[in-house]
Amino acid sequence: MPRRTVYLDHSATTPTDPRVVDAMMPYFTEIYGNAASAHHVGRRAEQAVEDARERVARVFNCKPSEVVFTSGGTESDNLAVRGAAFKMGHQGNHLITTPIEHSAILRTVEQMAQYMGFERTILPVDHTGLVDVEDFAAACREGTTVASVMYANNEVGTIEPIPQLAAMAHEHGAVFHTDAVQAAGQLTLDVKALGVDMMSISAHKFYGPKGVGALYIRDGLSVLPNQSGGSHENNRRGGTHNTPGIVGLAAALELAYAEFPQRTAHYKHMRDLLIERVLATIPNAMLTGHPEQRLSSHASFIFDGVDSNTLIMHLDLKGLAASSASACKTGNPEPSSVLLALGYPREQALGSLRLTVGKDTTVEDIEFAVDVLAETIPRLTHARHP
Ligand SMILES: *Cc1c(COP(=O)(O)O)cnc(C)c1O
Repeated sequence: MPRRTVYLDHSATTPTDPRVVDAMMPYFTEIYGNAASAHHVGRRAEQAVEDARERVARVFNCKPSEVVFTSGGTESDNLAVRGAAFKMGHQGNHLITTPIEHSAILRTVEQMAQYMGFERTILPVDHTGLVDVEDFAAACREGTTVASVMYANNEVGTIEPIPQLAAMAHEHGAVFHTDAVQAAGQLTLDVKALGVDMMSISAHKFYGPKGVGALYIRDGLSVLPNQSGGSHENNRRGGTHNTPGIVGLAAALELAYAEFPQRTAHYKHMRDLLIERVLATIPNAMLTGHPEQRLSSHASFIFDGVDSNTLIMHLDLKGLAASSASACKTGNPEPSSVLLALGYPREQALGSLRLTVGKDTTVEDIEFAVDVLAETIPRLTHARHP
């Protein structure tokens, strides 16, 4: 174990806030009922679930009945795209998405195209990761049912023009889903302002517990359950409620928006310091993603001539926890598919590094990270094997 650990991988996951853990605790022990039970023991759990639903709905600016609890971002994404597309089968079978989505969307769309007869358009993105509204409009056609574009990208932090894209989808009679997993806690989740029909979030990305998420589904839009079973979640998701997790999600979301101005200002301060120091100190560093339209916690770089897997290993030995591409791809020697989609050559896409700050990141953490990078990168440059 290194002497000091600096965690700059908050896009992969965050620690659960102790206040959130406190809110969850009673629901493991005293209030252990099944929220679907008819007796008072179950009813207490049901009240907690419904209270959590109301609190999430307040942040989403929607009705509580429009919030479905799931097992996380992956399940929310699956339920949105597959669930809506199956129900809209009579209207068509064309899906639209982007090449920079999380695999929870990309693999789902891929599977639907390969095994279920759906057609798909994977939109291009520009060098900063932005989807063009005109390209999106041109991809909409007769039979387009579901379009899914992420709110903010997990690898490069770029924020997409969601209200414009959602409006365009509606002009063409399609429903619009956004994966807001990275955006939650950093951007507004007001579904009316965004104009979206469905929106996914995951608690562990905003200081909540792992294994619980939510999906907003606009009133009047029907989805086929992915997880069929009991009539839970108004027949949209079968399975006994994860009461402690749901309570934790609501508590974490409420805290994130109650502390929104302070947290996002702190993220920006830490991130800007990090970007400035890295670009000033390390000669072969480039910032990836959009220079301004990016998540406030998010810094992503290419170090030309460096192999990111080797780099991450060396950083880890010195106590700096960082990532390349997305956490789900760690150990994969392939270049980041997101950076390839942004138009970077394979050589450069192999040298990506993502550093994401959190609410407890300090100036000392940033200075430590920059020092570690500055001593590690020159030694690894051009050490890559062809
Ligand atoms: C983390 C993440 C997911 C997956 O969420 P899980 O709760 O880990 O399943 C989906 N989309 C994006 C953009 C993510 O960052």
